[in-house]
Amino acid sequence: MQRRGKTFIVSGPSGVGKSTVLKALFDQRTDLYFSISATTRDPRPGEVDGVHYHFIPAEEFHRMVEEDEFLEYAEYVGNFYGTPKKYVDRAMDDGRDVILDIEIQGANQICAKRPETVRIFIAPPSWVELERRLTARGTDSQEVIQSRLLRAKVELQTASSYDYLVINDTVEQAVAEMKDAIYKTYYKKKGQAVVDMNYASIDHGINELHQVEIPERWLDARDEPQADTAPAFIQDVVAVMNRQEGDSLPVSTMVKYGLEDGTWPA
Ligand code: ADP
Ligand code: 5GP
Repeated sequence: MQRRGKTFIVSGPSGVGKSTVLKALFDQRTDLYFSISATTRDPRPGEVDGVHYHFIPAEEFHRMVEEDEFLEYAEYVGNFYGTPKKYVDRAMDDGRDVILDIEIQGANQICAKRPETVRIFIAPPSWVELERRLTARGTDSQEVIQSRLLRAKVELQTASSYDYLVINDTVEQAVAEMKDAIYKTYYKKKGQAVVDMNYASIDHGINELHQVEIPERWLDARDEPQADTAPAFIQDVVAVMNRQEGDSLPVSTMVKYGLEDGTWPA
């Protein structure tokens, strides 16, 4: 049976760089599925209907609410935003991981219904920088900027309730941290720290991993992952994941995953 995809919520104050970081992430992880929200707000210059959002009139939005077509929806600084349910479920059924760029009320609604959802919060390197980015984007009036900054103060206080915190100082670093957070949800075993491996080196194998169900016996085979059946890539990951103090792994595996020859990372 094919693995079902996971849902990842990405939240953060307006202007922190969520769209920018997500765009760069999707360039690298083409297997991820972006959930296109419906909104009643007007498109900004450069925004395309059906790509960035489904821009719909308020009447249409309320009809969708009444017909229970949203996984969640919320009002944000004078406009409505909602996640159409059917596309998210279809993508997950197809085994794809889904990314939702949504604010915190919507995030809470989804987590109440689907507690396994992973939440990633993107924070600015400083308050001054957040103000600068929101203003420099040049898409909102001063009044809207002030409302969004007010909202940001509340949102930043909820960051600690998220599963992962990513500081968007440079886009490159933020993307690396996002990828790291996504990988960790796959490779983390209950009660075990995730090995500090070179995640970039396993990018090529991520699609393969998404398409196979990893049987428990592969995860449990600590000493010798079942060489006859487990794909080589998974054997490597399992061996690295399950390593314990004093274990030895083939040098080639350690080098591949950025582990120093002969020593375990702390
Ligand atoms: P959000 O989607 O969170 O509202 P945007 O992605 O629209 O934010 O980014 C807001 C502004 O900040 C844009 O002008 C974008 O180019 C800029 N920006 C995003 N990330 C960075 C960064 N790491 N460093 C400097 N500017 C950034
Ligand atoms: P913007 O107008 O800047 O594109 O988005 C404003 C806020 O709405 C952002 O915090 C964004 O994450 C959030 N948002 C976008 N789509 C949705 C959605 O479908 N549901 C919810 N709850 N929030 C959304």
